[in-house]
Amino acid sequence: MRVDVVGGSVGGLAVAEHLLAQGHDVHVWEEHRDPGVFDACGEAWTEPALCPLPKDAAHGFVARLQGFMMHCWPRPGEHVTARLPVREAYMSYRHVVQRRWAERLAKLGAELHLGARVAPQGLDALPGKLVVDASGWPSVGAQRFGFTGELRKPLLAFYANVPLRDERFSEGWLHAIVPSHFTEFSGYTWVFPRPDGVANVGVGWDPLDPHRPRDHRHALRATEERLGIAEQRWVGANLPIWEGLPVERALQHLPSGVPVAAVGDAAGAVGPLTGDGMGPALESASLLADCLAAGQLTRYPERLRAHFRGRDEAHWRIRSYWDGPGDLRLFARLVRALDGLPFEQLDRDPRATLRRVVRHPGLAMRFGLAQAWQRAGWAR
Ligand SMILES: Cc1cc2nc3c(=O)[nH]c(=O)nc-3n(C[C@H](O)[C@H](O)[C@H](O)COP(=O)(O)OP(=O)(O)OC[C@H]3O[C@@H](n4cnc5c(N)ncnc54)[C@H](O)[C@@H]3O)c2cc1C
Repeated sequence: MRVDVVGGSVGGLAVAEHLLAQGHDVHVWEEHRDPGVFDACGEAWTEPALCPLPKDAAHGFVARLQGFMMHCWPRPGEHVTARLPVREAYMSYRHVVQRRWAERLAKLGAELHLGARVAPQGLDALPGKLVVDASGWPSVGAQRFGFTGELRKPLLAFYANVPLRDERFSEGWLHAIVPSHFTEFSGYTWVFPRPDGVANVGVGWDPLDPHRPRDHRHALRATEERLGIAEQRWVGANLPIWEGLPVERALQHLPSGVPVAAVGDAAGAVGPLTGDGMGPALESASLLADCLAAGQLTRYPERLRAHFRGRDEAHWRIRSYWDGPGDLRLFARLVRALDGLPFEQLDRDPRATLRRVVRHPGLAMRFGLAQAWQRAGWAR
């Protein structure tokens, strides 16, 4: 069967890999001439097993990671951390990974149409019996079917690749400074160091949060100051975060009857708390391929929902902790309580974080009270 994949980034490349293995005639349409042009996000890879490339520097995977480290500075001079070990994750140069992966797919027989943008109405003209929308957000499918306005919780982030060696942010770990009261607004800051001394750093916040920075330039200057880095040319981007996966949008049909299945950001797969989207893009591509192989394409939206349900519940629960009380010292106690929790549990098991908090009765009680206080409108 001929399949047209719109978008040649992680989600599109992963779909192409699976569908080639199933013997389909795969065409990838990518608007950029270089499949590696989308070269920077945080560039941290979870779910690396779903990418078939060797995990070495020649293929863009520059360091295996021990885990995530959360940092909190509840008051000057006090620094609290929690280490969340991760089973397998890598720090990458994403543009290298994508270029190598595209080269591999071309060798395996995929037809790569580079520098070829598919317009929303152009979806109807693609000859495939199936169209896969891997075009990120706002996706070409969302534009074609008219649901771009349904995004629930955007996250605005700015990032840069910066020469940085700082003993607070050791290599081999992904560092997240939470909540970002570090820079006097809600949100978070990340520092992802690489072995060559170039760290991916960024700062993000919810643009609908009343405590967001009013002036993003001020927030970026504050971030530079706190990290001790020179003035940067920050790249800004929006992460499409949904309050519940819009799965009913993951499979649409063109008037001709041709199905359009969305993966990755186009399907709303990005994690609502961590903002990690490459692993979820790979996972959604795998789910779609499984459904297709089983002749059950119509089950894809439900499989997608079931797969990410636990993660979404866990992520929104944790977000409610730190979007809530606004009490940094209390938050620092939460960070301490999380120390040692495997990242996979924080990420996927909504009960695991709760169990950690409940082990510290004083903490659980104070969180309960702080949240009730906040709900009643007395906080901040
Ligand atoms: C600041 C920031 C930091 C992030 N950090 C991380 C991180 O550290 N780890 C992580 O896992 N995730 C991270 N993410 C999320 C991650 O970048 C995305 O979730 C991931 O890129 C989604 O992959 P995708 O293939 O679905 O879409 P995208 O990567 O957005 O790719 C879409 C592709 O489609 C192409 N395209 C779009 N429209 C068309 C069209 N009409 N015709 C042809 N081609 C088209 C684009 O050029 C692009 O190549 C971050 C995101 C941001 C914004």
